[in-house]
Amino acid sequence: MRVIVIMGGVLMMSACDDSTKNPPNTNDNPAYQNSTKSTKENATNEGSEGSNVKRDAGGYIVGKKIPKKEHYVNGILLANKMYPMPKNFAPGESTEARAAFNELNKKAAKANFTFDAFSTYRSFERQETLYNNYVARDGAEKADRYSARPGFSEHQTGLAFDIGEIGNAGDYADDRFGDTAAGKWLAKNAADFGFIMRYPEGKEKITGYQFESWHFRYVGQSIAQEIYKNNSTLEEYLHEKG
Ligand SMILES: [Zn+2]
Repeated sequence: MRVIVIMGGVLMMSACDDSTKNPPNTNDNPAYQNSTKSTKENATNEGSEGSNVKRDAGGYIVGKKIPKKEHYVNGILLANKMYPMPKNFAPGESTEARAAFNELNKKAAKANFTFDAFSTYRSFERQETLYNNYVARDGAEKADRYSARPGFSEHQTGLAFDIGEIGNAGDYADDRFGDTAAGKWLAKNAADFGFIMRYPEGKEKITGYQFESWHFRYVGQSIAQEIYKNNSTLEEYLHEKG
């Protein structure tokens, strides 16, 4: 079940939104796969609001608009509540991240674990549909607690993988996963394959999201190892806000 944590008056919601018990979105717009990615460092000045921005009950920055460009820092794509993604940013699932995930699984097999990436890429439109359906059903206030608004889900980057253990789907997108032997193995070894636990425990104010033991982000091996070694986050590594 989802745990909503109130910290400093800011409501932390799950980033994994998609009612994560759903099957993976395997039919999410593969036509955009391998589209050319351009590196636009600091393409916008969206981050200049400072630390006293106003946030609403969903933790979103009041007045924040969907930008025309996604946000890169030193070539690393950053997607969070400060830096949402444009509607037309539709890279599909990263083939590099998938290959790294497959390598991770090879090593995991030696420890008798097999992992499933049960939710990876989600398009802006897919997120929009999901979110609007939840709002229609439960109202915006409730929907904001478990579903990202379109443009704000890191899954749109194609680099976010929700990971669980095959045979234990009951713990998919659940806090319990982090307490399992598989979850502990993953937390310890993911960086060797380029993945970081994106929303670690105790970093909620920095990332803007509650702890999620299952949501990993591909950043490449050297960066992932540095972030893991320093018990850090992507925001801290890039000196950016969440
Ligand atoms: Zn996720």
